[in-house]
Amino acid sequence: MPADYHIHGLAHQGPPHTVERLLPYVEAARGAGLTAMGFAEHDRYLEGLDFNVFTELERLTGMPVRAGLEVDFRPDKDHQEQLAGRPWDYLIGSVHAVGDWEFDRPGQEAGFETWDLDELYATYFDLVARAAATGLFQIIGHLDLIKIYGHRPRRPVLELAEPALQAVARSGAALELNTAGLFKPVGEIYPSRDILARAFELNIPVIISSDAHAPGEVAREREQARELLRQIGYTCLATFSSRGMAMDPLI
Ligand code: FE
Repeated sequence: MPADYHIHGLAHQGPPHTVERLLPYVEAARGAGLTAMGFAEHDRYLEGLDFNVFTELERLTGMPVRAGLEVDFRPDKDHQEQLAGRPWDYLIGSVHAVGDWEFDRPGQEAGFETWDLDELYATYFDLVARAAATGLFQIIGHLDLIKIYGHRPRRPVLELAEPALQAVARSGAALELNTAGLFKPVGEIYPSRDILARAFELNIPVIISSDAHAPGEVAREREQARELLRQIGYTCLATFSSRGMAMDPLI
């Protein structure tokens, strides 16, 4: 059951959340041969979400449309309270900021010059570990996003990522292979092959995500991600419903 659970139907514009805006994504998903999909808007748009839109899209198209959210993890925020009382199928926990610095935002690249890169990677992966340790997330988003502009640590990245991987394994969450990294300056899937191989050793489940912000980006470079997973040894992909996880063959 090929699925793409990391789709931003509101793109960068935000609400309103309407069937008209989201329908082209569902059509694109079907065109790409997906048999399930999910919208995971950024949590800053949480108040603008209309869960009836997902139900209506399913009714119109027959495509299972899951209700997700991409949560911008902040260690000082009460995410539990923020997320309560809504019928999520899954939640993606992502780290986009170190302190107040939103490192992946266009125009924020200069911040990398102010850090020792080993320290930056360690600080970033510590935040990822803390996100996983909350137990709130079914998916950890783009695990090594900190590489987005191609800044590399001196120490082996696997050593720096190990505490985050251990925390993900303990939490039971899945990792996403996020193909959007191929279209960023780093030009690589998140996370890297080394990290994925370690995730496989730790029995961490995986999914393939596009992080689409436009219909034409749904399921992009999925075949490349699938091939990478096959080479590493993965034979299953996770699927999500009502914050529960199931496994499907990797096809
Ligand atoms: Fe993200």
